Amino acid sequence: MRNAPVIIRKAGLKVTPVRLAILTLLSDSVRPLSPRDVHDHLLEKFGRSGLPGVYRNLEALAESGILFRIPGFGRVRRYALCPNPDNPHQHHIICIYCGRISEVGECRYHDGMMVGGYRLLTHAMQFEGICGSCLLQTNHSRS
Ligand SMILES: [Zn+2]
Ligand SMILES: [Zn+2]
Repeated sequence: MRNAPVIIRKAGLKVTPVRLAILTLLSDSVRPLSPRDVHDHLLEKFGRSGLPGVYRNLEALAESGILFRIPGFGRVRRYALCPNPDNPHQHHIICIYCGRISEVGECRYHDGMMVGGYRLLTHAMQFEGICGSCLLQTNHSRS
């Protein structure tokens, strides 16, 4: 992934070989990956890797908006590259069959606004669905 150093630096994080390897791995992967998947890859690439370090790096990259966390996908938290890391406010939809991730359009919420008499501090929305190509393959489009 050629622009990985730029993306990491722009997010205010230190560019490290491990972070570069994580971004490259995720950009090459069609599906979101679990910390263990990432750990196995790093072990292969660098000869050593600790799972706690992998968790820390994934969380740091997610906090800075480079990665997208998928909480319940397959029961394990998984991570994927944000389709557009330059847009910090985005919600994603994930295909339950192939793991493809896309952004869902405009969100009408912004933190700080009033919602039902509450001052909104933060919000998260998770969309799951079946992507266009999986719909074609599985004929789920019929109903
Ligand atoms: Zn799909
Ligand atoms: Zn939103």
